[in-house]
Amino acid sequence: MRTTVELNAGSKTFASGLLPDLIAALRRSRKGDLVAVISSDPDIGPELEAWCRFTRNSLVDIAIEEGRTRWVLRYGEAPENVGEDRPVGSRLWLYTNFDCNLSCDYCCVRSSPTAPRRALGVERVRRIAIEAAELGVSEIFVTGGEPFMLPDIGEIVAACATAAPTTVLTNGMLFGGVGLATLRALPRGRVTLQISLDSPTPERHDSHRGKGAWTRAWRGIERARAEGFRVRLAATVSTDAEAEEFRGFLDSHQISEENRVVRRIALRGSATQGIALARADLVPEVTITAEGVFWHPVGAEDNDLLVSREIFPLANSFAAVRRAIDREFDHQRRLAKIFNCA
Ligand code: SF4
Repeated sequence: MRTTVELNAGSKTFASGLLPDLIAALRRSRKGDLVAVISSDPDIGPELEAWCRFTRNSLVDIAIEEGRTRWVLRYGEAPENVGEDRPVGSRLWLYTNFDCNLSCDYCCVRSSPTAPRRALGVERVRRIAIEAAELGVSEIFVTGGEPFMLPDIGEIVAACATAAPTTVLTNGMLFGGVGLATLRALPRGRVTLQISLDSPTPERHDSHRGKGAWTRAWRGIERARAEGFRVRLAATVSTDAEAEEFRGFLDSHQISEENRVVRRIALRGSATQGIALARADLVPEVTITAEGVFWHPVGAEDNDLLVSREIFPLANSFAAVRRAIDREFDHQRRLAKIFNCA
């Protein structure tokens, strides 16, 4: 990640002179600039994170490079207009089950074959879809774990698609047998399939997702396209270099901008490295799971992002998120940024 200022902390810690250097680095910066702090001592991380929260700067990236840790913080508050194109309630996310045929090492909600199924259920989804249409939701996103593990996923997606254009997030590996029959019955004009592919070749994708996952995902992409679906490719990457490489791959396959998502690993769920995201760092996108209403899909089982245990009426859920964002921005007005999941 490119930054405006690079601060080499050497052996300094907060107890031995890092703080004046940090303040000096911010004085050389303008609001919104990115500042990198580089140190061979990873232990300064928790204090740096606490300092960022206290001073209303935001830690936006952590990376290990050549044995040293590089923290990137953004200086200052959120721009006024962040997220204006995504007002609360325009996007609605549904976590349908949480169990998954994969157990990716960065999964933000710890899905896996052994994760207990926490199903939203088709009846609740039907009610959500009706109320969402009344509330003017313009896009619905259906995610799992892996949604195609559910026997009634066809009914669930069809219900959503009657309310708004619907995107199903999937690893694309279950489009055979019953999965294929389910796929074929979905309304193509209203449903987009967002399929995860993390790298141009199998090695990196499989290192996160398991041997053979890339090949099966690619087959799924080809099958979904052959069935006439709009397919969006979604890559989760660790570095800017990986993102750049994947964009080159997308360019070479003539994948348009609206059919691609490239985002960094979030330090949530199973991930041990990635971008640390607090609630105030995220433009809210109402997310419903069997456990309640959450601020954003990237932390849909984390208490700090829980807004309400009550889903219905949906209007109240949306109002609760709006009240929460008002409180958040009134009191803190710190960085909020779009973290693209779709
Ligand atoms: S990242 Fe997606 S495919 Fe991987 S375990 Fe989580 S839900 Fe499953």
